[in-house]
Amino acid sequence: MGKSSLIKPVLDVEYPVISHGKGVFLYDAFGKEYLDGCSGAVTANIGHGVEEITKAMIEQAEKVSFVYRSQFTSEAAEQLALKLSDLTHGDYPWSFFVNSGSEATETAMKLAIQYWQERGKPQKNRIISRWMSYHGITLGALSMSGHPVRRERFTEILESYPAISAPYCYRCPMQLDSKSCGLACANELEAAIRRIGENHVAAFIAEPVIGAAGAAITPPNGYFQKLKQICEKYNVLFIADEVMTGMGRTGKLLASEHWGVKPDIVTLGKGLSGGYTPIAATLVSDPIIQAILHGSKIIMGGHTFSANPLSCAISLAVLNYLTKHDIAEHAATAGVYLKNKLHSLEQKYSFIGDIRGKGLLLGIEFVQNKKTKKPFPLDASITNTVIKLAMEHGLLLYPAAAGEEGVTGAAIIVAPPLTITEKEIDELINRFETVLEEWAEKYL
Ligand code: PLP
Repeated sequence: MGKSSLIKPVLDVEYPVISHGKGVFLYDAFGKEYLDGCSGAVTANIGHGVEEITKAMIEQAEKVSFVYRSQFTSEAAEQLALKLSDLTHGDYPWSFFVNSGSEATETAMKLAIQYWQERGKPQKNRIISRWMSYHGITLGALSMSGHPVRRERFTEILESYPAISAPYCYRCPMQLDSKSCGLACANELEAAIRRIGENHVAAFIAEPVIGAAGAAITPPNGYFQKLKQICEKYNVLFIADEVMTGMGRTGKLLASEHWGVKPDIVTLGKGLSGGYTPIAATLVSDPIIQAILHGSKIIMGGHTFSANPLSCAISLAVLNYLTKHDIAEHAATAGVYLKNKLHSLEQKYSFIGDIRGKGLLLGIEFVQNKKTKKPFPLDASITNTVIKLAMEHGLLLYPAAAGEEGVTGAAIIVAPPLTITEKEIDELINRFETVLEEWAEKYL
């Protein structure tokens, strides 16, 4: 390719030009094969190049690709909302479609604030979230994100929302032992609500399994149940950000199901379309919409491309594919297989400190010393060197924050398409081991 006018994430890096993809593999313009060990940004849940989806795209494109949501609804959008309501057993009879996960979490935040306005409590408008969290890059979503590196540049124009610690048992922020801590990190929510004042807190938002900000930090049993109880006690809405964890990624359709917790609002993105189109959703429980229906009736949100018929038809085809092929169940089984393999590597290599996660959302934290959990120096850019080397060896991995305050550590996410076979997992592990050997030789 000649001169580029495209603004890329890192301006002075040359990115390979992609040619095509099939299943868990991607191929660049030179024919080099990449095993997609992280589904792009934990997105390509059903793999690349699925023909059923391409057919659905063409069918809808031949009917109509765009209508404006303030003038028309469409069969595709209506069907997708009904499908999501069915899949969630009627817990979320309402769906609001947007274009990115950031918009979905920001919509959730605004709906929560509006809910309290409609109920005559406009001062109940603060959001609580956790340090070591990521809810999106737009300013509202970033305000809710406890991701120091992503916040830093914009600190002065962000709300100072995050308030409580993450359930990071590997490096407990309170230096407690997970067997005897009494879920102190969940109890922090109660203290935070009391400090801010129940009458000022609209909602609490959390990722069921922490993605980019913590490399698949998975809470102990009882944690989410406790958070939900605290929310109920203080009339605070509970928002589950399932943009990364939703649609089967952790082995259940929604990751909240692992703990039997029903959030008031759920956000979806990424796997909602498996990357076949930009679409995300905010799923809303009935009481919230009823409050608006009996109040102003107007939702002050939405975008030109919200509920786009083409995107909705594609997403519907992806969800039909997910259910037809029992993809979430497969992710649970394949996840156990992959996690066991990663545990074998953990035993072999002194620099692997922790393996964590659920289903096919798995994280690896690197340490200088397994016993003391001492992280590598920040300037060694461990995460980046591993990812770069992996790419050279035809393996894609996803970077994640880790360590104290989510800043000092090095970690990656392994999250291949949920359709991956055991043979392909073996190949992923083979490539990863080659990377680790070469990395240790070069950098340790
Ligand atoms: N929420 C979570 C949990 C995410 O992982 C992400 C993206 O990584 C987002 C929100 C933001 O989604 P998007 O990048 O589509 O705006």
